[in-house]
Amino acid sequence: MSNPASTSKTALEKPAFSLCVYCGSRPGAAPQYAETARTIGQWIGEHHGQLVYGGGRAGLMGILADAALEAGARVIGVIPQALVDRENAHLGCTELLVVDTMHERKRLMAEHSNAFLALPGGIGTFEEFFETWTWRQLGYHDKPLGLLNQGGYYDSMLEFLSHSVGQGFMNDAQMDLIEIGEQAVPLLELLIESAGLPGAVNLDEI
Ligand code: AMP
Repeated sequence: MSNPASTSKTALEKPAFSLCVYCGSRPGAAPQYAETARTIGQWIGEHHGQLVYGGGRAGLMGILADAALEAGARVIGVIPQALVDRENAHLGCTELLVVDTMHERKRLMAEHSNAFLALPGGIGTFEEFFETWTWRQLGYHDKPLGLLNQGGYYDSMLEFLSHSVGQGFMNDAQMDLIEIGEQAVPLLELLIESAGLPGAVNLDEI
């Protein structure tokens, strides 16, 4: 569908950057996951950024969005109609775009963002991360993509990817398309700087 329903609550000035975050619709087993989601939401708000995410209130997604809104960020949520109830659509978003399909969701999330970051999550997060990565290698976009390997959460996935390189099904150039970090703030800074925004964001001056 090309005509998503939109509820716009505020029309703030243009944000310094727009970051798409993929993360779990569950909170995870350790409280540190929620703490980091909160830190990231807060960081986006404090740096006058915009958060683009899946539009739900569930799990890390809701925690991230609430922290961003509380810190004054614009938040765009993009959610398929079929998931409005299941993922508890966040009606407090600055804009909530209700779309028909998952494809539409991912397309809009990508179009509205300067960079992408995947936090710990489940299969939905994996799928979004891998699709954004494959779009990048195919040249459909040239926006930076980060993976937050919080507490080594993604270690075994990264090990497998390295195995795939060793077995000749992937190469180092593909691995070089993603930024991997264990700490949220340095990774956020790197992604925003790599996005090379016009009129650029100097994070030290904000
Ligand atoms: P999960 O990581 O499984 O907790 O899911 C995180 C988010 O990814 C949720 O908002 C899911 O609806 C979303 N998701 C799951 N599958 C897909 C998909 N194929 N395309 C886009 N988003 C998805």
